[in-house]
Amino acid sequence: MTTIRHHVSDQLLMAYAAGALPEAFSLVLATHLSMCDDCRARAASFDALGGAVLEDCGSTAMQDDALQACLARLGTPEAPRPPARRQGLFPRPLQDYIGGDLESVRWRPLGMGVRQAILRTDRNAMARLLYIPAGQAVPDHGHRGTELTLVLQGAFADATDRFGPGDLEIADEELEHTPVAEPGLPCICLAATDAPLRFSGMIPRLLQPIFRI
Ligand code: ZN
Ligand code: ZN
Repeated sequence: MTTIRHHVSDQLLMAYAAGALPEAFSLVLATHLSMCDDCRARAASFDALGGAVLEDCGSTAMQDDALQACLARLGTPEAPRPPARRQGLFPRPLQDYIGGDLESVRWRPLGMGVRQAILRTDRNAMARLLYIPAGQAVPDHGHRGTELTLVLQGAFADATDRFGPGDLEIADEELEHTPVAEPGLPCICLAATDAPLRFSGMIPRLLQPIFRI
C-alpha cells in the first residue's frame, strides 16, 4: 500500500460534504476518498458537523413538517462506508462513472504520446483521464481557475513536489508548472478543471480549443 502525502483541503472537503462542488470536482474527490482513509474520516466528521447543525435547527420552534422539509432539501445523507475492494486500476467511484476499467476508456491522442479521455459531467467543470508516458512532460502551463489532479498509476513531479498513486495536486491561479511523468509506469491521472489552462507555448495554445483543455 502506498502512502498518500497530498490530500484534499478542508475547504474543498467542506464544499464536497455540502454538495456544493461541480460534478467533475466531486468525482475527483470521491475517487480520492475511496483511496484515502484520512480524508474519508475527515469527510465523515464534516457530515457529522452538518448533522449537528441540523439538530440545532430542529430544537427551535418550527412547524411540524419543518424538519422533514429540511431533510428533503438536503437529500439522503450518505453514511461513511469503507471503500469497496479494488479490482483493476480504477477505484470504484471512477469505475462506476465510466462503466468499466482501463479497457473501457476511449483515449484521444494529444501529441508526444500523451492521451486524454474527457468524461461526461455537468458544464461547471471538466473531468478527464490523462495518460502520460513515462518520462514525458506535459507542456508548461498556468491555471485560470482550480485544477485537481489525482494520480491513479505511476507518478509525476513538478516544481512543487512529487505526486504518486492516490496523491491529489490542487493547483490554482498562482501555480505555473510543467508536470513530468516519472520513469517506470506510464502516469495515469484523473484531472478536473473549472477553467481553461493557460499555456505559455504557442503550439499548445493553438491546439487548446481542439483538445478542450
Ligand atoms: Zn486524503
Ligand atoms: Zn496544471
